[in-house]
Amino acid sequence: MDLGINGKIALVTAASRGLGRGCAEQLAAEGCRVAICAREMAAVKQAAEEISTATGADVMGFGADMRNADQISRLLADVRQSLGDPDILVTNAGGPPPGTYASTTVQEYEKAINLTLMSAVHLIHGVTPAMQRRQWGRIIAITSISVKQPIDTLLLSNMARAGLTGFLKTIATELAPDGITVNALLPGTHQTSRIDQLAQDRAERENKSKKDIIREMKATNPSRTIGDPSDFGAAAAFLAGMQARYITGQNLLVDGGTYRGLL
Ligand code: NAD
Repeated sequence: MDLGINGKIALVTAASRGLGRGCAEQLAAEGCRVAICAREMAAVKQAAEEISTATGADVMGFGADMRNADQISRLLADVRQSLGDPDILVTNAGGPPPGTYASTTVQEYEKAINLTLMSAVHLIHGVTPAMQRRQWGRIIAITSISVKQPIDTLLLSNMARAGLTGFLKTIATELAPDGITVNALLPGTHQTSRIDQLAQDRAERENKSKKDIIREMKATNPSRTIGDPSDFGAAAAFLAGMQARYITGQNLLVDGGTYRGLL
């Protein structure tokens, strides 16, 4: 299926690896001109080159820390200058550290809100004026299955993503008349370094090996495996496509059937 986004400009943040990179790869494969960012310049440049070589698309890498509003503004200015105003924005950032109510200090809440919620707010504010002028835009936020079903050991992530979900749902209504869709993609468990780290933490807590934890993650998933970032990226590309113009304000799980709720 041709998604009709060949030549569109896409910005995917926090995308040198993992789910962000999976989204960037699929958008590049659809012919988008893609900007990606991460904190480490060398890693992001290398990822951009690899994606460009694999897809033949124009892919540029930028250094930016999603915890820092000034760096987000600079990123948006650099992308605008090198590629143009983004038609498609995929917001992503590294996940907040794991922890429970007992182990989390009050100061850590604000940091998590900056990383997970405010980064998306700044990015969206930066791209919507041009989208409104063009009367076309696609905003996709990477959140988590935890907005449907909070994860016990990820208190900060549960809290900040719930706020982001409320923000996205509200602005989806306001931006719909301008031809801009706003959706969230909710990963279950995908094979990335974040999951490797969480598996390592759990292995230490439960006195097991990381390999055993990953084996358990696969065995307990209804699909008997964990996702690949390309599974996730394919869903992002579809939501970015022309055919998805009437889908907005939604939270789409990409989880192999993990979530058991009806809605
Ligand atoms: P990952 O660790 O594999 O990749 C994270 C990417 O973000 C890397 O490119 C890293 O360089 C970049 N990054 C990290 N902190 C950054 C910052 N402050 N500023 C800019 N870039 C930054 O992680 P992932 O598994 O791809 O996860 C992406 C998001 O999805 C995270 O918020 C994570 O919590 C969430 N999530 C992931 C899963 C999963 O199964 N992998 C499940 C639920 C939620």
